[in-house]
Amino acid sequence: MSADAVSPGRLVVVSGPSGSGKTSICKALVEDPRVLFSVSATTRGKRAGEVDGRDYWFLSESEFEERVSAGEFLEHARYNGNRYGTLEKPVRDTIASGRIVILEIEVQGTRLLRDNGVEALYVFIMPPSLEELERRLRGRQTEDEDTIEGRLEIARCEMDMSHLYDHVVINKDLESTIEAVRRLVGFEG
Ligand code: 5GP
Repeated sequence: MSADAVSPGRLVVVSGPSGSGKTSICKALVEDPRVLFSVSATTRGKRAGEVDGRDYWFLSESEFEERVSAGEFLEHARYNGNRYGTLEKPVRDTIASGRIVILEIEVQGTRLLRDNGVEALYVFIMPPSLEELERRLRGRQTEDEDTIEGRLEIARCEMDMSHLYDHVVINKDLESTIEAVRRLVGFEG
């Protein structure tokens, strides 16, 4: 997508390490009718409670690759052995309808968007510390030890990339972080 295809402020990119709280923050943002969540495609397995088409479009490697070849992604990346990507058409359609689209993506995807000059509000959600992040990831009990270690390693790298973002918000307390992000998006308190 070219830079001029996106009106400033209409696209909001939210990133942060796994366990930073970004998913809860995005869920709170999309409660506003002016906001729509961009449902990404992924090759990772479905977690308990996840629904195809709501949380992600769950694709096989070959289905994902076909869409890459067809140029359907606004950005895509590999994360912890799986592929993730934002489908461009739904994003375009939502922006055209005058709404705000939230992209919850990892940092390589953000780098691609930045390199392509895609105008957006770029927000990074920072955990208070790596120790706190580890505690949250273990508390979630959705992943095995190797996956947690992998995510912590990725978290360190992601936190080093926070300079790619317009705003870094430290999530000490979820409610106040949600309010801070809502204000950044331009909503009243
Ligand atoms: P999870 O497997 O925990 O749902 O997501 C792993 C990581 O992939 C998270 O950081 C999430 O934000 C990121 N992610 C989800 N969808 C996309 C996407 O479409 N593109 C990119 N680049 N990252 C994504």
